[in-house]
Amino acid sequence: MDVIVAGDRAGLVKARRTLSIGPGGATLALVPTMGALHEGHRSLIRLARERADHVAVSVFVNPLQFGPGEDFSRYPRTFDGDLETCADEGVSVVFAPSAEDMYAPGRQVGVSAGPMGAVVEGEFRPGHLDGVLTVVLKLFNLIRPDVAVFGRKDAQQLAVIRRMVADLDVPVTVVGAPTVREADGLALSSRNRYLSPHDRHAALALSRALLAGAGRRTPAEIRRAARDVLEAEPGLSVDYLVLVDPATFTEVGDDHRGEAVLAVAGRVGSTRLIDNVTVGL
Ligand code: AMP
Repeated sequence: MDVIVAGDRAGLVKARRTLSIGPGGATLALVPTMGALHEGHRSLIRLARERADHVAVSVFVNPLQFGPGEDFSRYPRTFDGDLETCADEGVSVVFAPSAEDMYAPGRQVGVSAGPMGAVVEGEFRPGHLDGVLTVVLKLFNLIRPDVAVFGRKDAQQLAVIRRMVADLDVPVTVVGAPTVREADGLALSSRNRYLSPHDRHAALALSRALLAGAGRRTPAEIRRAARDVLEAEPGLSVDYLVLVDPATFTEVGDDHRGEAVLAVAGRVGSTRLIDNVTVGL
């Protein structure tokens, strides 16, 4: 069947009716994206297909989650290609609203990520995680999926979304999907297309650092091994390298047991990239 493209709320209502989605009918899994779809997004769609009868993909470059001076206006927009990718992956509905449709004039209320929104990624991108939660909750309310799939590539985003769903009793099951990487380790990202060959080489230090850290045993050794790799790459300007509790994103101490997330963010040229791995302690 062809992909149904819904450009607004009315289109979504119609799509749900056409596909008989709802209580007693078919189930729906949502994959929220900002478009410029790549193999990482495809893997989320495939996981979503295993979890529900139909998959909806939202394509929306959310102005609320970009700060002043960030790359909102130059973020890649490749809608025709994205639609082909969705058709290829058996997606039933693509929801692609305009910013005006999503955010009515007079908007005042949003979701706060709380203390988790102010640490790590939140320290470098104030308000970013609030903007993510606000749009994700709106997408949940509009699309009303049974399941929603998010990549562990954005580990802190996944953690705050899980927190929101628990804290606000949002009736959706959140599924985390593994990070898809290039053969040389670079995590796939829509922003990779900004990278010159020189930048791309420098960007590889991110995944190499995580791999070096993941091979060590104690928090101190993990942080040091990762830090050494990053410091040896002059083309990379590091925003942070942290080893944090996966649920709260607070730094773990030397006595921490169980899983921790080793997360890194850095800039190569004018492109900012993030990556992370989960390590067992
Ligand atoms: P984005 O379009 O970048 O906002 O990402 C949409 C979804 O795809 C988010 O849940 C991301 O975590 C996920 N995603 C992005 N890159 C990857 C990747 N390399 N592997 C797995 N998931 C990813």
